[in-house]
Amino acid sequence: MTGLLFGTGGTPHSSETNTTIDGIRRIAELGLGCMEVEFVQGVRMGEAGARLVAEVATRERVKLSAHAPYFINLNAHEPEKIRASQDRIIQTARIAALCGAESIVFHAAFYLGDPPEKTYSRAKESLGEVMHQLKRENNRVWIRPEIMGKPSQFGNLEEILNLCVELEGVAPCIDFAHGHARTGAFNSYPEFASILQQVEERLGKAALDNMHIHVSGIAYGEKGEKKHLTLKESDFQYAELLQALKDYDAQGMVICESPNLEEDALLLQETYNTLPG
Ligand SMILES: [Zn+2]
Repeated sequence: MTGLLFGTGGTPHSSETNTTIDGIRRIAELGLGCMEVEFVQGVRMGEAGARLVAEVATRERVKLSAHAPYFINLNAHEPEKIRASQDRIIQTARIAALCGAESIVFHAAFYLGDPPEKTYSRAKESLGEVMHQLKRENNRVWIRPEIMGKPSQFGNLEEILNLCVELEGVAPCIDFAHGHARTGAFNSYPEFASILQQVEERLGKAALDNMHIHVSGIAYGEKGEKKHLTLKESDFQYAELLQALKDYDAQGMVICESPNLEEDALLLQETYNTLPG
């Protein structure tokens, strides 16, 4: 993949219908480059449907990723809930592969009052089993735990990068809005650059060539993320983020999750294209 592609989390609002296929067509019409298929309420797409999605995406030259169901907690205290969480990741990866998607993203875990180290080792063990299974199936989709927006959620930058270092086939989903909302920090050029620097130092230059990024405006408070906003309603310094991405020559997908989806995706793409560098 060369350069950064911009697109939406889910089917654009201006699509003819809210199906994935019409979403892909609309992304191409708008001149955007990618789309994240949302399985957040469950993986309801069948194999035949996924193959059709792959055909249309190839024809329209739209790159795809998929978002796994929200109901995942790799630190659940009941073994059956861990197993159900693992199954949801595996199911998403199977359908994503048939769709021709290169990555899936998911929300890994909640601390549930456990110490972060204990949560980390549980999440790593459970995700390790998932990776083992996917390898047996020869499934090469990148499995990407996401940086989360609330301090009660497992998934700060360090935790996510550690998982990527320790588990083959795992790569980060850097959600810059969540990174900002989690602490109120990470909203300036030097802070964005420091994140990219850490990605490069921990995972190598190849990781900057294969980035998966979420961006939106965001409202937050002491407990972190409250809700997504449009970029212009929010305090998020997206132009500084885009400049850092350009300066670090980051490549891959930027998925916009603002409530106005394609409007902010286009704003991000246009801003990126007019920046120096
Ligand atoms: Zn997410």
